[in-house]
Amino acid sequence: MDRFDLIVIGSGPAGEKGAAQAAYFGKRVAVIEREPHPGGAGTNTGTVPSKTLRETALYFSGLNQHALYGVEYQVKNEITVKDLMYREQEVVRSLRQVITENIGRHKIEYVQGHASFGDPHTIRVTAEGQPERLLQADVILIATGSVPTRPKDIPFGDTRVHDSDEILELERLPRTLAVVGAGVIGCEYTTIFGALGIKVSLIDGRDRLLGFLDAEMADQLRLQMGFLGVDLRLKETVTRYVLEADGVRLELQSGSSLTVDQVLVAAGRVANVGQLAIERAGLAVNKRGLLAVNEHYQTSVRHIYAAGDVIGFPALASTSMEQARVAMVHAFDLPKYKTRVAPVFPLAVYTIPEVAMAGETEESCRQNKVDYCVGRGFYRTNARGQIVGDLSGEIKLVFRYPDKLLLGVHIIGEIAAELVHIGLIALQTECTIDMFVNTVFNYPSLGDAYKYAAYDGLGAIQRRAAAENRS
Ligand SMILES: Cc1cc2nc3c(=O)[nH]c(=O)nc-3n(C[C@H](O)[C@H](O)[C@H](O)COP(=O)(O)OP(=O)(O)OC[C@H]3O[C@@H](n4cnc5c(N)ncnc54)[C@H](O)[C@@H]3O)c2cc1C
Repeated sequence: MDRFDLIVIGSGPAGEKGAAQAAYFGKRVAVIEREPHPGGAGTNTGTVPSKTLRETALYFSGLNQHALYGVEYQVKNEITVKDLMYREQEVVRSLRQVITENIGRHKIEYVQGHASFGDPHTIRVTAEGQPERLLQADVILIATGSVPTRPKDIPFGDTRVHDSDEILELERLPRTLAVVGAGVIGCEYTTIFGALGIKVSLIDGRDRLLGFLDAEMADQLRLQMGFLGVDLRLKETVTRYVLEADGVRLELQSGSSLTVDQVLVAAGRVANVGQLAIERAGLAVNKRGLLAVNEHYQTSVRHIYAAGDVIGFPALASTSMEQARVAMVHAFDLPKYKTRVAPVFPLAVYTIPEVAMAGETEESCRQNKVDYCVGRGFYRTNARGQIVGDLSGEIKLVFRYPDKLLLGVHIIGEIAAELVHIGLIALQTECTIDMFVNTVFNYPSLGDAYKYAAYDGLGAIQRRAAAENRS
């Protein structure tokens, strides 16, 4: 029996960072991973691969260059799966190495194999061709992530029907593609394949894209998808998948049907706890199939913590890492420098174009009866926006009326996922929009659009005050 201070199950974003946090403070840590490579969905099947494919699609399609030089620009006419996946595989390989080095640097024992509970303090590790190994620890962190939902009525066995993991193992590029599910993953892949010139139909039962986004940004994204030629079918569901010789026919609730070469089903994800034998630790999943935790990320068995996708919302790599760090600070009573995950966090959708946000939307303000105004800064009136050729980008600030406290920031366009951090920090430090007015931004820079959004906001306040004085 090997004894540790901490056993971490899973080496995704939550597992790696939680393990490193404890090991940094001198704890003896083991990480157990059942896949051949570390990194989880964050590195191997989710975040990093999809973002790399996005860059590849932009590069090969020359989409960003189309408006710039007045000439049709395309690196290659016939893009193959090999072209598409080459860089994805390179980046994934490099980042696996980075994780392996991080684990090594922190002197964490990396154990290859499938973990399951023997009892509340004991983990059994099984690996093919190896004798079972038993590990014990004072503290256990469950960071086993999530897997794509695979509804039984969808013929995933067919090579033309993929979930979001399998899409990375395409044998050939689709001639036409249906993406079923317009969540973040579905929207991202829709625009990646759309940018490659593939006809994509995006199907979702809801009446708008990405309900958490500010509606104005969601509408903008919808418009931009139109420019990519996406056939968007909202308030529509697939009732049957029929495998035919020349494609997959999707029968739709509306009575129409659609035949496509290949299908990507992005129907959500479920917590990955099925083979952990959590009942032997005295644990059970909640009604939604997730592990419930308190504010310290402790499960109902106090020395067993859980972080990342396995506990559900927001199920992001970014927040998963932070949750695990916070959990380990609590578990080992480490110097209290990180006691909670910041309540305001950024959301980024790496579609083409990118969309990012933090804080409140106009809709949430209305719902919560918060009096607000908005200010907008446009990339087309921004020098850097003109230089890079993104004329449809926009930064929108939502702020409280009349005291100008920043409530939310919403961006669509080039590097939105980076730019949002300026607004995020302003939100976190409870600034008014005057902060943007009084900041010198680089020129030319897209960040400068914050200042013009703030000016626009000041104008909105003045107009509003004037209207109130008149009435
Ligand atoms: C297509 C896609 C795009 C995404 N894009 C983004 C994005 O842009 N930004 C963002 O922040 N997030 C993104 N995400 C979400 C992000 O990938 C996840 O939130 C994150 O990976 C969760 O981290 P985790 O450590 O909880 O779990 P995971 O990354 O899923 O890692 C869990 C690990 O545990 C291992 N494991 C499971 N069970 C066992 C067991 N019994 N024994 C041993 N090992 C086990 C698994 O093999 C896996 O390696 C995306 C996800 C997908 C699918």
